[in-house]
Amino acid sequence: MDETAHSEINELRDLIGQTRAHMRRQQLLGVERLHVAWPERQGKSPEPFLPLTHVRQALGECARCKLHTGRKTIVFGVGDPQAWLVFVGEAPGADEDQQGEPFVGKAGQLLTRIIEAMKLTREQVYICNIVKCRPPANRNPEPDEIAACEPFLIAQLQAIQPKLICALGTFAAQTLLRTKEPISKLRGRFHDYHGIPILPTFHPAYLLRNPHEKKTVWEDMKLLQRTYETLIATQRLTHNTRIVATIDLP
Ligand code: SF4
Repeated sequence: MDETAHSEINELRDLIGQTRAHMRRQQLLGVERLHVAWPERQGKSPEPFLPLTHVRQALGECARCKLHTGRKTIVFGVGDPQAWLVFVGEAPGADEDQQGEPFVGKAGQLLTRIIEAMKLTREQVYICNIVKCRPPANRNPEPDEIAACEPFLIAQLQAIQPKLICALGTFAAQTLLRTKEPISKLRGRFHDYHGIPILPTFHPAYLLRNPHEKKTVWEDMKLLQRTYETLIATQRLTHNTRIVATIDLP
């Protein structure tokens, strides 16, 4: 028997020993029956869409709209490429243009605090914008710029396949939902984005100017967090584990 096989058998023996010890402890605690759950491989089924890295490659050194002339960096997006929750904002500002990362200025720091208050981290979600280049003097993105950039946002969302989207501010909400309704009317409830629930709320930059609205946004975030946690719990129960055996303790 070679060395690898020998060490694998030893590992298996250890595992059996640990399982026996665990079962014995459960028995002493009065447990009569154990359900054995087998973790499924994490991740998603093969997807027909471009992976996120290919979407970035396809964007290239984009000059598809006039915003390319004033930008320093394309701000593509940041976070988990398989995130369940994606935040979509409006456009990069000066800090984002410098650093190449969305939501890193004052509004970004507020968004980070909001995400952390939801017991998540920036690394666990994905953050991007409707347009990926900074508009001059931080003006609003114009319709032709949104139209030029939106296919890449759609490709990003198709690659990530999030379970929830949070639209930050008027432009993100109105662009994604194809509506002219004001954000004050759209926020506070989920809408449908091609089968993905989307929750619009105020943009963090608006909150910095209107701190009295923080409570309103926090209500939205509590709704988002509850929905996120329910999805996680449901997914764990229905997909991530399955009972493979029921063991009657001796
Ligand atoms: S905003 Fe979008 S479409 Fe316009 S140049 Fe930048 S990446 Fe290209």
